[in-house]
Amino acid sequence: MRVLNPATGEIVGSVADTPAEQVAARIAELREHQREWAAIGANGRKEWLLKLQDWIIDNTESLADVLQSETGKPRVDSLIDPIFGSDLIGYYARRAPKFLADEHPAPHSPLSRVKRLTTVFEPYPVVGVITPWNFPLAMPILDVIPALAAGAAVILKPSEVTPLSALELARGWSEIGAPPVFSVVTGAGATGAAVVDNADYIQFTGSTATGRRIAAACAARMIPYSLELGGKDPAIVLADADLDRAAHGIAFGGMFNSGQVCISVERVYVEAPVYDEFVAKLTANVKSLRQGRDDRTPRYDVGAMANESQVAIVSRHVEEAVAAGAKVLTGGKRTGEGTFFEPTVLVDVDHSMSCISEETFGPTLPVMKVADEAEAVRLANDSVYGLSASVWTGDKARGERVARALNAGAVNINDIFANLFNFALPMGGWGDSGVGARWGGAQGVRKYCKAKAITTPLL
Ligand code: ADP
Repeated sequence: MRVLNPATGEIVGSVADTPAEQVAARIAELREHQREWAAIGANGRKEWLLKLQDWIIDNTESLADVLQSETGKPRVDSLIDPIFGSDLIGYYARRAPKFLADEHPAPHSPLSRVKRLTTVFEPYPVVGVITPWNFPLAMPILDVIPALAAGAAVILKPSEVTPLSALELARGWSEIGAPPVFSVVTGAGATGAAVVDNADYIQFTGSTATGRRIAAACAARMIPYSLELGGKDPAIVLADADLDRAAHGIAFGGMFNSGQVCISVERVYVEAPVYDEFVAKLTANVKSLRQGRDDRTPRYDVGAMANESQVAIVSRHVEEAVAAGAKVLTGGKRTGEGTFFEPTVLVDVDHSMSCISEETFGPTLPVMKVADEAEAVRLANDSVYGLSASVWTGDKARGERVARALNAGAVNINDIFANLFNFALPMGGWGDSGVGARWGGAQGVRKYCKAKAITTPLL
């Protein structure tokens, strides 16, 4: 399978389309090695994870080169995956021993006073991780590392659009000389399906449609899974907000990675008294973004989209909105050679339009005027998704009140993406945005474990 740089159309690599029986064989091998990996304990595994962290830090630039070549991202964005990834590895390497330690819950009745109570956490043997193309190194790290820390072996099936960064991660694992408990298989949906058919736990990040299929396949095998799916994240700008900060944050939240982020801002609701002023500031911010094809010198804020099908979705959402009466304040069309779509602000939109109701995953910010806080909350909650949201206000108590009213797995007040960089917090969507155990904190590793209860007589 060929790998393309979407910014240039150049072929930058090719990978195998791994057949199902090879996937099954690889998983059987991993299952053999996993026993030893579990046996060295969380503190033993910590040493290997910290070596991997060092390897990533030492290879940041070359990892960014590979990632940039398969995504067409600007240079600055290409550096984010190794930086975020190495930080996350440090967090889980150091904390997993505590998260996985036996627990002794306090007795709560005369009956339990005559026993010592113990909860132990035993890893699933082989965790299958299936990842998308938007963060080709960070997503694998986010899903693979907690599973390795838990004592599982991991088989990773990265997106066929961006498999090269995941192969670099596997190279790092073998270069540090770590035990053979992490393996990457490349290929498309059929390879992913073979992972689902053979692993003991599935961690999937991708589209809601594929997530549903995977959930059904896991149910048939009675294996656990966790799904991180799409989103349509709202931003709510209240009249008492710092409008400069809100406009700047929302422009970044909507345009970062060309909007190809599950938690990017996809809809904006603004209280009527500040609507005109906010829209002017937002448009100015979006217009100021530099878009283009970067090399190793950072020059651009917004790069290419991942592939033609993404450009087609964004184009359709903008065209349908305009046909139904929406106005484009800036952007609105593809530009240059390669898969570039201009950063776009849309107004006069409503909930009947695809740009507001469907996930766009592109550089568009549709903005709606609302009468008050209550209407903003009602419209923000009018979605099948519930991943994350932001609220912009000068009153923190008001911000928290709105946060509690929103149907979302995370809400940032006067900020964008802040929850994701605080690894102790749970991160996971509601509704069509996902099910199952979450990323972050103790549950980020415990989800890869079976809990066992042991009672020991005291007498
Ligand atoms: P997108 O179309 O945006 O790439 P998908 O959800 O289709 O999103 O893909 C996410 C990941 O899931 C990719 O690695 C892809 O190869 C994989 N995949 C697609 N179909 C299946 C399937 N039926 N079973 C397992 N994995 C799949």
